[in-house]
Amino acid sequence: MSTTDHHPTRPARGRPPGLPGLLALAVAALLVAALVSSALVAAPPAQAAITGPTVVSLTFDDGDADQATAQQAMASKGMAGTFYVTTGFTGASGYLTRQQLSSFAAAGNEIGGHTVTHADLTQVASTEAQAQICNGRKVLQDWGFKPTSFAYPFSTANAAVEAQAAGCGYTTSRGLGDTRTRFSCGSCVRAETLPPADPQYLRAPDQVDSRWTLADLQGTVTGAANNGGGWVILTFHRVCAPTGTASCPADRSITPTLFSQFTTWLDTYRKTTTNKTSVKTVDQVVRQYKGASYPAYSPASSVPPKPVAAAGANALLNDSLETTDAATTFPQCFQPGGWGTNTAAWSSATPGRTGSKAEQLALSGYSSGDAKLLPTLDLQTCAPSVAPGATYDISTWYTSTAVSQFALYYRDGSGAWFYWTSSPWFAASSTWAQARFTTPPVPAGATATTFGLALIANGTLVTDDYALYQAGTGPAASAPPTTSSSSSSSSTTESPSARQAPSSGASAPAAGGPSARPGGPGGPQQPPGPPVLTKREHSKAKPYLPGGEALRPGTQVAVPPLRADGKG
Ligand SMILES: [Zn+2]
Repeated sequence: MSTTDHHPTRPARGRPPGLPGLLALAVAALLVAALVSSALVAAPPAQAAITGPTVVSLTFDDGDADQATAQQAMASKGMAGTFYVTTGFTGASGYLTRQQLSSFAAAGNEIGGHTVTHADLTQVASTEAQAQICNGRKVLQDWGFKPTSFAYPFSTANAAVEAQAAGCGYTTSRGLGDTRTRFSCGSCVRAETLPPADPQYLRAPDQVDSRWTLADLQGTVTGAANNGGGWVILTFHRVCAPTGTASCPADRSITPTLFSQFTTWLDTYRKTTTNKTSVKTVDQVVRQYKGASYPAYSPASSVPPKPVAAAGANALLNDSLETTDAATTFPQCFQPGGWGTNTAAWSSATPGRTGSKAEQLALSGYSSGDAKLLPTLDLQTCAPSVAPGATYDISTWYTSTAVSQFALYYRDGSGAWFYWTSSPWFAASSTWAQARFTTPPVPAGATATTFGLALIANGTLVTDDYALYQAGTGPAASAPPTTSSSSSSSSTTESPSARQAPSSGASAPAAGGPSARPGGPGGPQQPPGPPVLTKREHSKAKPYLPGGEALRPGTQVAVPPLRADGKG
């Protein structure tokens, strides 16, 4: 970490600032603004002669589908970029497909790694970080690429994570926000050096967002070229218009028009030989500065999934939700998920059914979708491993003012997640009741599963004491069931999920179709509210995680990161 880093006091690089950090940044921004103002009053500095070479890398994070537009714009000018791909999202709705990646590579673009499911590598267990980095690289290799370049999700890293990136075979790893822009890091270096000081944390400007103008983009290049040159690594996410909408977020989008204008300018600029500027992929730059010492390709290897839990053992960690994850504020090894039009409010409820904590979900403004708490959809730590062909008993205890339904997902060998199926409905219950469901046989190729009790109407759901056992090996269902009232008389659905019978002897009510709306004729009676609990609201986060009526079983889902700060 150099003294020019704009966040030198944080142990993890690229960590987004908390409130004190934001205040400090605001103060810094004011100072920078003052300096800029005084500089404007003074005579403008004479443009320095262009001395050293400047190399520009155009990089793209996450594998968003509309990056294909940028690829076409680059190809039309004979340029290529580096695409840092989140392998577990590849092929999911809104993301590039494997075929597109292959065609990009054939056109000279570089395919680099960006983990499997975009984990914050400084916040997860070391084994999880290792699997996220190494397995993502192995998947890319299995797809026919030879990935040597990596970018940190959220641009967060520390010494241990940097060592893991190198150990997984990545030659370089890119950060964000460590070179100068109009928006941040005003006293930082203008460009990464050649060779870079730390190949496992390449210094790059903050990601391009909708505030950036053509002059801002040009300025990163000319600012370097006019000041001794160096390596300018620009990072793009979404390429869409209009920016500043839900489908084209302001904090991570550039319009296709602006991207095309910039690459047109850049093409002319690089062809003016006195500018000593070139456009290269990250790996091409490394080849250039390493020369004869460029390393041979290091074959990727992946970390195998954790073992399947033994018969009679609950495969879930923190099943009673007693331990809270400081980073997410949710119970450790659990995450929220949901989709559709509704507002979810999450809070920790006290006491739990057992122990001191349960998790409360309040859903309002409901018109579609669901919200649910699930064992975290990860690679190594929380999601329980399963064996193809086997069946499992899943359960959780709950109180609820509305009907609910299990939504199940599975993970394949590449680490991608897929919607699996949904259970029949569980009736509202004012006292603790157990929702139980026996899964269908695990699909071939699946390596892990997760499930959440989804609230599918306005109401309040409190859950505690989650379990997943090999079928028939867990405790018997608690009697008598308290959820025996029928949730719905509807049986109109053709969804496969509605055909899943509840497990024998379980307390599940008669099946309602997931496409049947609760509250209609024959719908559930609204019971009294749940037991009075002391609660502490900790988040309104609801990462997009679809299921139920919106989705065909087997549809790949892109598990969103809990941290939605829009960076990296
Ligand atoms: Zn990313």
